[in-house]
Amino acid sequence: MTVRTRIAPSPTGDPHVGTAYIALFNLCFARQHGGKFILRIEDTDQTRSTTESEQDILSALRWLGLEWDEGPDVGGPHAPYRQSERKDSYRAYAEELVAKGHAYYCFRTPEELDVIREERKAQGLPPGIKGDLELPADEVKRRLAAGEPHVIRMKVPDEGVCVVKDMLRGDIEIDWGQVDCQILLKSDGMPTYHLANVVDDHLMEITHVIRGEEWINSAPKHMLLYKYFGWEMPTLCHMPLLRNPDKTKLSKRKNPTSINFYERLGVMPEALLNYLGRMGWSMPDESEKFTLNQMIENFDIKRVSLGGPVFDIVKLRWLNGLWMRENLSETQFLERLVHWSYNNDYAAKMIPHVQSRAETFSDVAPLAAFMFSGYLPIKEEDFAASKLEAEQLKKVLQYSLWRLEAQRHWIKENIFADLKALSKAMSVKMGDFMMPIFVSIAGTPNSWSVVDSMETLGPDMTRARLRFALEVLGGLSKKGLKAAEKEFAQISAAIDAAEKN
Ligand code: GLU
Repeated sequence: MTVRTRIAPSPTGDPHVGTAYIALFNLCFARQHGGKFILRIEDTDQTRSTTESEQDILSALRWLGLEWDEGPDVGGPHAPYRQSERKDSYRAYAEELVAKGHAYYCFRTPEELDVIREERKAQGLPPGIKGDLELPADEVKRRLAAGEPHVIRMKVPDEGVCVVKDMLRGDIEIDWGQVDCQILLKSDGMPTYHLANVVDDHLMEITHVIRGEEWINSAPKHMLLYKYFGWEMPTLCHMPLLRNPDKTKLSKRKNPTSINFYERLGVMPEALLNYLGRMGWSMPDESEKFTLNQMIENFDIKRVSLGGPVFDIVKLRWLNGLWMRENLSETQFLERLVHWSYNNDYAAKMIPHVQSRAETFSDVAPLAAFMFSGYLPIKEEDFAASKLEAEQLKKVLQYSLWRLEAQRHWIKENIFADLKALSKAMSVKMGDFMMPIFVSIAGTPNSWSVVDSMETLGPDMTRARLRFALEVLGGLSKKGLKAAEKEFAQISAAIDAAEKN
């Protein structure tokens, strides 16, 4: 048997360090066994998936040095590797399960389903749709012929225990009563993650599914699907989730999660990959610093420990420092530095601004230092000159951050439009609105056009600095946050509506 593993990202956001982490372990496992590592794009959620996000994910993984043997960009014997291009193939599988009596057409309206949910809740049963919703065959026929909207749901046992076998965790027991009658095919004809994932893993001959532990609860459904289809089930392995230093699940609120942030910070890809390899895993000799090849040579998935690995930027910086000192000659250091940001392309973006401000060339570096920095050493006092009262000041930063988190097309015109619309909606004068933004991004209100800087710094560094500024100011209070979320949602919807007109 040839070992075949895969990473199956959904292109719905920034390239996440968690995706690279899972990809790394899949790659190492495949290489260790002389097998193949596949990249498949799971973009069946067409409202959330974007081609920009797919591109970003592919290039971020490549930047890290992760290479796949088969994928949407390199092709392979099981092409296409993008689920949207396979979308017409899934219906037949769902219908096959209906024909075999393992799934059924469900015509319930959202309102009817709500009633079922409420009833279950009242009885203290787990959420999710369950129970006998199947209609008599002739009724189904009539409704299908009448073109009534429907989904296809899988049948799931009501009781008993499902035993999921996991390479790291042994037998995991999950009550069938907890598992809902999952939709396989949605009313728009698109498959859900569960159906598409199982069908494609089978067709692509995946032998080992190594993925994050957040998918454990999906495993019973997948097991059942393999059984219903009569296919052999791949071996499952659920990796521990990455965590913030406070042990909560890694989240961008507490820690930058986008690979692009670390690139802009000036981390070496080898060091980031090395650090991800340290997440729950160690070399037999416990050495902290190793290359991808060394990791592959010494790989043993059984060495993964389940205690939640902490992704700590301080530790990553330390490791990166080692890499910079020990693995780069002076010439290479210079080359990397130039490639990173000390180059004409990057400098050219600042020239018009520094030229109009500098009196000597020696003024340039201090003026532009923030464009070559990570987090800025800002303090609460730096915002003291703001005309806004404390809560309003924080709201300006928080709403800007939220608005810019949703900005998919990162150009200064869009950034400016977002900020201007917010300032108007919040009835804050543009000058007063922009002051804290300047301080957060440039460290001072006396810099050049901050939207130009934001464009050049890119979305990840910009958002990280806004988040950091909020942290410096103590953030919105817990109670304030709830109200702010509501207010922001209204403001944001109004802005979107106005933009459409
Ligand atoms: N598309 C899923 C994700 O976004 C894949 C999960 C899996 O590996 O089965 O992570």
